[in-house]
Order: sequence, then structure tokens, then C-alpha cells
Amino acid sequence: MIRTHSLGFPRIGPNRELKTALEAHWKGHLDEQGLNNVASTLRKASWQQQIDAGLDFITVGDFALYDHVASHIQRFGCEPARFGFTEQHTPLQRLFGMVRGQAPGVDTFALEMTKWFDTNYHYMVPEFSATTAFKLDAQELLEQVAQAQTLNHPIKVALLGPLSFLYLGKSKTESLQPLNLLTLLLPEYEKLLAQLKQAGVTWVQLEEPILGLDLDSTWLLAMESALQRLKQSGPKLLLATYFSGLNGHISQVCKWPVDGLHVDCVRAPEELAAVLDWLPNYKVLSLGLIDGRNIWRTDLNPAGELIQQALNSGKNELWIAPSCSLLHVPYQLPTDEGVDARVRPWLAGVQEKLIELALLKAHAKTLLQGKSTDSAHGKAWAEHQQWVQERQRSALVHKPQVQARLANLAADADRRQAPYEERRELQAKALNLPLLPTTTIGSFPQTPQIRTARAALRKGELTQADYDAHMAQEIRTAIEFQNRLGLDVLVHGEAERNDMVEYFGEQLEGYTFSRNGWVQSYGSRCVKPPILFGDVERPKPMTVEVSAYAQSLTDKPVKGMLTGPVTLLQWSFVRDDQPREATALQLALAVRDEVADLQGAGIQIIQLDEPAFREGLPLRKAAQTHYLSWAARAFRIAAGSAFNDTQIHTHMCYSEFNDILDHIAALDADVITIETSRSDMELLRAFGDFKYPNEIGPGVYDIHSPRIPKVGELERLIHKALQVIPAERLWINPDCGLKTRQWHESEEALKVMMQATLKAREQLLSEHATSAN
Ligand code: GLN
Ligand code: ZN
Repeated sequence: MIRTHSLGFPRIGPNRELKTALEAHWKGHLDEQGLNNVASTLRKASWQQQIDAGLDFITVGDFALYDHVASHIQRFGCEPARFGFTEQHTPLQRLFGMVRGQAPGVDTFALEMTKWFDTNYHYMVPEFSATTAFKLDAQELLEQVAQAQTLNHPIKVALLGPLSFLYLGKSKTESLQPLNLLTLLLPEYEKLLAQLKQAGVTWVQLEEPILGLDLDSTWLLAMESALQRLKQSGPKLLLATYFSGLNGHISQVCKWPVDGLHVDCVRAPEELAAVLDWLPNYKVLSLGLIDGRNIWRTDLNPAGELIQQALNSGKNELWIAPSCSLLHVPYQLPTDEGVDARVRPWLAGVQEKLIELALLKAHAKTLLQGKSTDSAHGKAWAEHQQWVQERQRSALVHKPQVQARLANLAADADRRQAPYEERRELQAKALNLPLLPTTTIGSFPQTPQIRTARAALRKGELTQADYDAHMAQEIRTAIEFQNRLGLDVLVHGEAERNDMVEYFGEQLEGYTFSRNGWVQSYGSRCVKPPILFGDVERPKPMTVEVSAYAQSLTDKPVKGMLTGPVTLLQWSFVRDDQPREATALQLALAVRDEVADLQGAGIQIIQLDEPAFREGLPLRKAAQTHYLSWAARAFRIAAGSAFNDTQIHTHMCYSEFNDILDHIAALDADVITIETSRSDMELLRAFGDFKYPNEIGPGVYDIHSPRIPKVGELERLIHKALQVIPAERLWINPDCGLKTRQWHESEEALKVMMQATLKAREQLLSEHATSAN
């Protein structure tokens, strides 16, 4: 039997209906019933789409109003006690209380949010403690099952597995390991499976994506014994893994007592042979053949060969699926009017991926029956492949001059001319900055006026010249503002930038942008990643005019502000026809040219933002060093055109640096600004212990909050920083850009920052004078 299915579907709706409904509900404009109706309509439409596309199962349980992990926490009755929920709260109030910290009587912060494996989707982190208990409430899931059953099509329930659930959570009790909670959790899973079986569910897709991580054997053993138990209680189990191979534990996993196994053949096609060897033929094998993480039309030939390989080894119960949930791809792309019309037919959104499944299924059937393909199918296959080939050969994609430039890149193109210690002296002379120089991270408030002007330009209601004049005015305001406050290194404020990747992508060749290619980032928040389809070229300078204008308004240095190559890569849908590394290097060359041009226009300090540097880390340790070394090289190539006396800054806004500090140092940026305010400078200790060689600006206050810090607080933080970083290497700045703040908030907070800095400077100077006496 050949069957097709999908691990999961997007939830947000083709026109972001769920976002609209959620936000209306939060504003009090849509009641709970109204919100549930929208959700139910969206689910039904997704199932209908799966049925119409000929999938053999529809998947239930993948839907979530806000986040599937948050729904799971509710389902298993382990909402943290700190929320203080009572009988009076409705399930929806409890959900939104947990994920947003907002519900009647709830006075605590929301659950932490973090990235779902190596995706840009964020899940809500379960909190476990010594008092955590589990109590199943399957009602909402059973209602979804009942709703799906009205469509009279076989269903499969998607369920996050118990081990991944515990692994993804955080223990709030020091002595408690989440794994220790398994004995309490399993009985509730057994109940759930039994209830699903009773409701007529025959297949459950039990997702254990942690199998793609470097798991230690206690987790593996625990998973095996958990499955042993769960197998008894109910429906057939399809153990699903994705995002990474099974690496090292293939034989073990294949022997576990489940009825089927789903593997990600897009990320780990090389493992298929071993899986075929080890997986008994009576078990279902589900092959993830279509990339659930990217948007390119699938090359059906290699996918077809994997099917052939599976059939040859006697796997008759073969299921075909996307590699992972389709949560990570937009609904439609080939019809999106924003996308370059020449690129559109190369793309596959959700709908096209379903069609690819049908093509592969028909192909598998003919292979199985040893018949030649029927002509309708043959024609559809050939048409599909024609676009695949066109993309492979297109001159839009392959530009010999870009490839030649990379191939001929000097071996030392990723080196500054002089080592840091020498550069430091030259820069000090050129810049003449005070002790503890003050700066900001780049953006100033993106006001409604700025957004209105941008929208008007797009609609043609504002001429380019009028728009530019508006932006020039914004720049003047930002420069005057910073001069008034007495900052030492200024920024132009980034008013002209809608988004730090899109702004550059729009000016680079090789990029295109969709109008409606949204994917969920978290809750109601969606992003529209740019599409990087071809060799990258920079036809002309991108930021020089703006930066030079800002510099002309002041005697203080103004930082040129660029997005680094790794972030340009990481926040886009990128090519799958060459290694990510190759794409990163092309981006690096474009940024390198921009650095040279900025410098030529008299800009003395240039910042390359790399907030996504850490996100690119592969899931498995073995692959991490390779990533870090090419990512750091891409950065250095981008910065490598800077003269010795041009100061290169970088900015990263997250706090997990400890394990990658040597690679951060390898960027050889003259100055790095980082987020530390929320961890009370704890992070800095790692930089201190590591003896980070260059200059560093630990963010002294949290820009994510409207709260205005107190002078004393910041003084204390500055002194804490001075304990680990020598004063000559310390910068003072907020922890990220100010675009989400209002002007008055920025003004008050920066005033406090300046006062605290002046006090710290005075104290340092007087200490210096005393020690000199
Ligand atoms: N320069 C950018 C800004 O200030 C940096 C944004 C970021 O780190 N995410 O907005
Ligand atoms: Zn930042």
C-alpha cells in the first residue's frame, strides 16, 4: 500500500484569518465563540484541501490557536501554578493567560518563548517544578477529532511525544530533571491514547523530534520503555522524527515497538539505506520526501529514486509525506504577485507540495505494479520537471561573474590588514573618543508617520522625491536628538528601513519578495521571509547616500549600518541547489563592497548586524564547528575591505554566547555590542573569563520594555561590567535598536544612560588620578 499524508498544516489561514481573529479577540471585539468559529472554519478548510489533493489521511491535532506546545501544556493540565488559574477561568482565558500573561486576575509574566529546533517558529516553553502534576483534559482534541470525522475521510492524530515534551521544557526546581516527570506523565498519555482509540482513531503520529539531537542514552532508553507502554493503550503509532537524521541510533529506533516510522529524507537522505536495513518490513515506513522547510518545487527524480529504493527492499507499507509539518511554508507562492514572475513557477507553497505528493504517489504505484506510467500522469510529471530543469539552468540563477569572483577570492580576503592591537591605536587616533564611549544600536522609533509615508510610496500616492525628503527630515531629527543628548557615536536611525533583511534584499540581485507569503513566527505574529533564488550581486551602493547625508550633519562619527551576511541568509528562504555556505559567501561579497563604498564616502565606523548568527547552528554538535567556521569567515570577508582605521562593529542580541565565544572572537570585529541587561550582566562574565580580546558594549538597558531605567541601576551595571572588562575596552549602549519604542521613551532612557555613563567616567578618572598620585 502506498499512502500520502502530511505531518501538519499551517494554522494561520491563507489570508492570516487566525491572526485577525486573535487580535480582534484580544481587543475585545470578538468573543470566544467567534474565535472558535474562525478556528473551526480554518481547520475544516485545511482538511478539505488535503482531501481534495488526494491525501490518504487528514491530520488532526496539528492545529493550535496560539502554539501547539502551549495547547499541549493545557491538554496535560500542567499549567504553572504561578498563573493562579481558578475554576472561573475559561480554557481560552487560561491559554492566553499563559502565552501572553494576560487574563483576568493573572499578574505574572508569560511563559518563555524559544525557537522550535532550528526553525524560525517559536514555541512556548513548558515549566516544570517539584510540584508539577499532570491531569489529562482531552476534550478540545476530541472535539477536533469529531469535527474531522464529519468529513468521512481517514484521520491520523498528530501528537507531541512525551519525551520531546519534557525535553523542551525547563525545570524551575534545581533538583528536578524534567525526565523524572515521565512516570507521572505516561499514565495521562495512556489515557489520551485510549480515549482516541475509543473515538475511532486508528493512527497516531507520535512526534519525537528530539531524536534528531545529540541525545544521551538515558533519554533513548526512556523513550523505548515509554513506547513499550504506550503501544498497549491504543491506536497504531507512527513515530515521527524530523529536521535531522537519526545518526547513530538508527538500528535502535527501528526496533522500537511502534507500527511505523517517519524519517526526514530531505535533511538526511543518506540514512535511508540503513533505515531500510533495520526497519522490519511489517512496519510502515513514512518517507519525508518534500521539503517542509523551504519553498522550491521538488525535483521529483531523486525523490522517485528513494521510493524505488524503499520498494526494492520490500517496504510495501510505504507512506509519502513532506519532511516535516507544512507550518513553515506559505500557503501559496506561484500566484503571488509580489514574486518575480520568472521565479514563480519554480516555487511550491502548501498547495503545490500537496500536488507533488500526489505525483509521487502515482509514480510509486506504477513502480509497484511494474507498469509503465499512464499518459496523464507522465505528462504532469514531465511538466513539473520542466520547471525544475529551467531553474537549474536559468541565467537568473547562475551568474558566471559572481562565481568567478568567489573562486578567485584571495586567501586572505577574510583578514583585516593589521591585527586588532595595531588597528586599535589607529582607530583611537582617528576617532578620538572619550572613555566609555556611548552609542545606540541603530534604529530609532518607527513612527506611524514613517509607516504611512512608506505605504503611500508603495501605493504611488507619494513620489520618490517626497518620500526621500521625508526620510531626510527623519535623519536630521535623529542626529539632532543624539547631539542634544551628547552621545559619542551617532546613528542615522534607520527610518528608511522596513526590515533589516528586506531593505537590503530589495537592492540586491538574486532576491525576490512575496506579497502574501506569510509564515507563523509565534502566536499571531507572522513573517514574510524574502526569497533568495540566485547568485547575489549588488548593482549599486545601498546605504551610502543616507549614511553620507547623516554624517554631513554632524562632527561626531556616524556609524554606517549594514546587515551581515549570515543574518541575510538566515532570515530568508534560501537556495537548496548549493550549500548555504556558498550563498553566505556571495552575500558577504555584496556587503564587502558596501563597506568599501561607505568608507570611501568618509564613514569611519561601520556596523554589521548579525542577530541571527547563532540561530544557524545545526542541531547536531558534529556539524556545528563547520557552520561556525564558514559563518565567521563570511562575516570576515564582509568586513575585510575595511581599512585599519575604519572601526568595524557587530551586534548580536541574544544571551547564549558561552559555547560559541571562540567563534565570536574569530569574527575579529573591533567592537561587539550584545544583550546583557536582562541577565544582569551575567553573560559578561563569560566574555571576561574568555578574555575577549576586542572592545565590547554590553547592553545596559532592555529596549523591549517601555520601563525607564534608574541612573543608579545603570551605574551598578556599568560597575559590574567594569569588573570583567577593562575600562578602555568598554562601550555603553542599549541592548538593541529602538525601533519599537516611542521617542519620549527613548529620550528618557538614553538620558539616564548618559548620566550613568558620565558618573562612571568621573569615578574612573578620579580613581586614575588617585592611583597616579
Ligand atoms: N541595527 C538594527 C536596529 O537597531 C539591529 C536590529 C537587531 O539586532 N535585530 O534595529
Ligand atoms: Zn539587536
